[in-house]
Amino acid sequence: LYVEPDLSAGAQLTLGKEQSLYLAAVLRKSVGDEVVLFNGRDGAWLCRLISDSKKSVQLELVERIAGQTPVSDLWYGFAPLKSERLDYVIQKAVEMGVGTIQPVITRYTQVNRLKHERMVANAIEAAEQCEVLSVPSVEPEMTLERLIDGWPADRTLILADESAASSSPVETLGSLKGHKVGILIGPEGGFSDEERAKLIALPYVVPISLGPRILRADTAAVAALAVIQAIIGD
Ligand code: SAM
Repeated sequence: LYVEPDLSAGAQLTLGKEQSLYLAAVLRKSVGDEVVLFNGRDGAWLCRLISDSKKSVQLELVERIAGQTPVSDLWYGFAPLKSERLDYVIQKAVEMGVGTIQPVITRYTQVNRLKHERMVANAIEAAEQCEVLSVPSVEPEMTLERLIDGWPADRTLILADESAASSSPVETLGSLKGHKVGILIGPEGGFSDEERAKLIALPYVVPISLGPRILRADTAAVAALAVIQAIIGD
């Protein structure tokens, strides 16, 4: 279970209503039962229920059972998709261990109102489900122009583009080992010709092809993250 406060031996914690209801009513945990807590900073802690009220479960921290995993440096930018596919893409990004999740609004992005707090809640839920001890930062949306204007000079931006040169990702990405990288996935409608030309002309942009077929944006996200992690590593 993800919590905000610091975690240390012997500390006691009182959970809010939602998490108390989940533990006491859904999981039917009672006094003496154990749960594992994490906060993204102090690793994983075994805790014991000292009260099981559905309104405010109280826990006592017993011992740390796993050290904190380092937060990944991998930046993941994507043109937001419609609701459940957005949830899916957030969940896969967390599972694949990205450090930053950045929604990027491009010309053909079809989503208008993005619910930032829903995306954060999805990222936390994904971390709880796949037992990733660090929750990536979910940034507020930004336009592609603003992204380009503020892009840090020390980071390479890998552009997943179905029309990119067929240079195999293995060579391209192999030369990026140890570099700070980000990956950018376009919307269902793809990048516009102007966007693609602008991106490819940038010195820090490296286009890669993910194969001869056009992948759906959420498939491309997982494929790109898998290739990057396999070749460049965390
Ligand atoms: N522009 C495509 C079309 O013809 O409609 C659709 C874009 S695709 C559905 C969505 C995004 O997934 C693309 O912008 C790109 O970032 C990524 N993508 C899909 N297939 C890819 C491939 N074979 N290689 C690299 N990126 C790909």
